[in-house]
Amino acid sequence: MHHGHCTWHQGPADDVALIVVHEQGSGPGGGEYACLPCAARLPLTHYGQAAFEAIASLKERAASGKDGTGPA
Ligand SMILES: [Zn+2]
Repeated sequence: MHHGHCTWHQGPADDVALIVVHEQGSGPGGGEYACLPCAARLPLTHYGQAAFEAIASLKERAASGKDGTGPA
C-alpha cells in the first residue's frame, strides 16, 4: 500500500495517485496526490493521460490489494 496524503480532501489516505507533477528548478518538487474517492471526481480531461493512468493503477490496487497481500 502507498499511504499518503490527499491534496483534495487535505488528509491522509490509504493509497493515492499522482495527479499533478510540480516541476521545480529547486526544492523538493513533488506533486498533487489524490485518493481514490477524490480522484473519481476529478476532471481528467484537465489533468491528462498521466493522471488517468495513475488513477487506473490506483483502482487496480484498491481492487486487488485490500488484504495487503499483494506485491510491494
Ligand atoms: Zn481525497
